[in-house]
Amino acid sequence: MIYINENFLKLQNSYLFTTVAKKVSEFQKNNPNKEVIKLGIGDVTRPIVPAVIEAMHKATDELSKAETFRGYGPEQGYDFLKQAIIDNDFKDLGIELDEIFVSDGAKSDCGNIVDIFCKNNTVAITDPVYPVYIDTNVMSGRSGDYNENNGMYENIVYMPTKKENDFVPELPKQKVDIIYLCLPNNPTGTVLNKKELKKFVDYAKENKAIILFDAAYEAFITEKDIPHSIYEIEGAKDVAIEFRSFSKTAGFTGVRCAYTVVPKTVFGYTKTGEKVLLNKLWNRRMTTKFNGVSYVVQRAAEATYTPDGRKQIMENIKYYQENAKIIKDGLNEAGFEVFGGVNSPYIWLKTPNNMKSWDFFDKLLNEAGVVGTPGVGFGNCGEGYFRLTAFSTKENTIKAVSRIVKLFK
Ligand code: PLP
Repeated sequence: MIYINENFLKLQNSYLFTTVAKKVSEFQKNNPNKEVIKLGIGDVTRPIVPAVIEAMHKATDELSKAETFRGYGPEQGYDFLKQAIIDNDFKDLGIELDEIFVSDGAKSDCGNIVDIFCKNNTVAITDPVYPVYIDTNVMSGRSGDYNENNGMYENIVYMPTKKENDFVPELPKQKVDIIYLCLPNNPTGTVLNKKELKKFVDYAKENKAIILFDAAYEAFITEKDIPHSIYEIEGAKDVAIEFRSFSKTAGFTGVRCAYTVVPKTVFGYTKTGEKVLLNKLWNRRMTTKFNGVSYVVQRAAEATYTPDGRKQIMENIKYYQENAKIIKDGLNEAGFEVFGGVNSPYIWLKTPNNMKSWDFFDKLLNEAGVVGTPGVGFGNCGEGYFRLTAFSTKENTIKAVSRIVKLFK
């Protein structure tokens, strides 16, 4: 008899984006002449930049000739890309490291990393949260059951992140072993400064814990004193794994490329207290279960670091940053309480008159033809909040903001 992994049965179905899609398609069916503007899903809209396309064409041609053909590559990524990452993403910040694992996505890496940790570790996540962190821990048996009454999984430590604490999560009161931090944050668009992040690094050191640091939106940071990498914080190289992605930085959501840094100074422990390098375990995991990112895609990722590539991807990021500003300023002026949007493509707004997130969603869709994401879909503490993204066109962003402002005048 084939037994299943019953942890999967604990998972709550994520109705968030399916419910959003269903409501939108119903609205469109009933209102075929009304234009709907979507500021909901966190996917990019600007095309891949010319320098990257050129590199992909060149790499594709190389595969057509026996002399330059490539088969299986190193599971950890080609040296040319790893070196470009080290030189451009870390050396400029004064960070020395060389332990890069190239992959097909930060989502896969954030999800797969749990393979190397013991089932009995206690996990802390922020609330609201990027759902991958919690769901992958539920799947691998690191949570108890879902509690319908409070909307939380047992044995998971939730760190509320809301306006009452300036979106700075408090350190866990109890001892935890694995802490997920996403900065700049999805969904709130907020950040921690170096001092605030240092507290987490110190906590991890004291408790022999690990920080899983998701920096997928690092390219959107505009303010000084906001760390682009957790390794800018003293001591972090001993306690943190960092995830990065080309998805939002270079429009690779469909192309697929990301990387993870597992410094050779980060250790875990056996039950008998023996220290083990996490880098060794992750390397073993990747070489066993993953066959690397395609050569063409790695050449594409490398091209994002050339002078032309950098200039072109930064133009796209600037385009989204301007959209974020249009949303933030427009809603602020109209009297909304708005968070994020300065170091992030996400704008997190407090719904007026304490409206429930889904009520606000319905009102916006039905009366303004604008789609966003109800904050409660990311966790209990997201109730009464709403997420808008800066990834649409400038024209639609301006139109959507003016419709929202008019609706709530
Ligand atoms: N991490 C966060 C916080 C995200 O919001 C996303 C995508 O929306 C990802 C990771 C996924 O990145 P990738 O496309 O590299 O899998």
